[in-house]
Amino acid sequence: MTTNANDIRLVIHVEGGLVQAVYSNSPVTIRFVIQDFDVEGADADEMAELVDGTEFVGSIQTTVENLDRVASAFMAFDEDIPAIDKRQENYVTSNGHFCPNCGSKNIEANVALEADGLAALGRVGCSNCESAWNDQYVLVGFSDLEAKPLQIIRSESERGYWKLDQGWVFDVGSATRFPSSSESLENWTFKPTSSGNDAELVELGSAEDFLTAEYNVGDEVFWNDPDQGLRSGIYRICAIRTENGRLLYGSDVCFLKNEAGSEAGVLAIELS
Ligand SMILES: [Zn+2]
Repeated sequence: MTTNANDIRLVIHVEGGLVQAVYSNSPVTIRFVIQDFDVEGADADEMAELVDGTEFVGSIQTTVENLDRVASAFMAFDEDIPAIDKRQENYVTSNGHFCPNCGSKNIEANVALEADGLAALGRVGCSNCESAWNDQYVLVGFSDLEAKPLQIIRSESERGYWKLDQGWVFDVGSATRFPSSSESLENWTFKPTSSGNDAELVELGSAEDFLTAEYNVGDEVFWNDPDQGLRSGIYRICAIRTENGRLLYGSDVCFLKNEAGSEAGVLAIELS
């Protein structure tokens, strides 16, 4: 048995075109879904449906621990399943609360960890038999992030945000992030060039993606009516309701009119 994710091996038992069982060398129960898109002739009570309406035959199952079956199946491919060291397993299962040498719980861990990328070591000693060993740690994620505010460089004339080594990009997500500083962009040694010489630092949190297409008053556009597409169709932009008279962001508002005289005030994101 193993509880180490790297050492888990599975065998999927199929017979008569059906998954009979999934065997594992681990006592850790893994939940999985059987998903068969061949739905012809299936009973209604076996059917499930994805949010997009796709139907499949399926169910939720769990793995079955069966070391012999897993070992013999891998052996058929000349592959050994990872040898499990019982002493290691017990040590991890008990959260490292005993001496692996004498079993005493009278142990002392060094609080300082030596980290190297994904792994870290912490020295532990036993006060009973005076053995010493390293506890091994693996990086699994991060927590308690105290995020500092960030800024990105925006240029209206370039309709974009600055990305180092690439130039102006329309989306906030791709822009290079800088720590917020009181220093204004004029004093930076590095300055991105923009046609309108209007590069400026803006708060990341309030930045919005630029529209990829440019629209002006008089342009013919297709409006995708968010109300079930009822009034979708070809319109002409007759007015733009923004401070600078330009449509830059998806949330900018403009007014449309079509040949039949139908009018609508819409968000730029709805145009294509
Ligand atoms: Zn000991």
